[in-house]
Amino acid sequence: MSKATQTASNSLAVFFAHSRALETEAAQRHLELADVMDVHNNEEAAAVFRKLAGYGEQHAAQVSEMMRDVEPVRIAPWDFDWGGGEAPETSAMEHADYRMSAAHALQMALRTEQSAHDYYAQVAASAEDDDVRRYAEAFAAEEAEHVRYVREWIAKHPGALDELPRDDDPAHMPE
Ligand code: ZN
Repeated sequence: MSKATQTASNSLAVFFAHSRALETEAAQRHLELADVMDVHNNEEAAAVFRKLAGYGEQHAAQVSEMMRDVEPVRIAPWDFDWGGGEAPETSAMEHADYRMSAAHALQMALRTEQSAHDYYAQVAASAEDDDVRRYAEAFAAEEAEHVRYVREWIAKHPGALDELPRDDDPAHMPE
């Protein structure tokens, strides 16, 4: 198979490279949000973000481990293909800001987890390789768990949403 035709859908190595990039970015973003919550003295929300960051770091480490068993691929940053979804580095453009409310931070975390899920689900749906499909399905299920965790946390802490800034668009909240 020539290099040009390798995609996450047909190459486990390419898929793992995308997964590791995605999880690393997500973990970084969650840590930034945790730092913001520290500034607000919101220990509870900070703990949520540190937990999510931990999941991302763990996942990236697991994927790195699994990458040892596949033929390595080198992918330039501009060659990453997120399949029409939001690239992790694009969503990271909206940086954590210390003035950000807990509600806004939670929505950002939710969006990060949701876009990770959507990426894996889309790879699973388009997989041309059984291993890719299996891993992508498993990863999508994990991300669905994270999405559920954030939603449940928000539901149990409605006070966190009282701070919702006026210009925030609730349409961004996935169903
Ligand atoms: Zn996650």
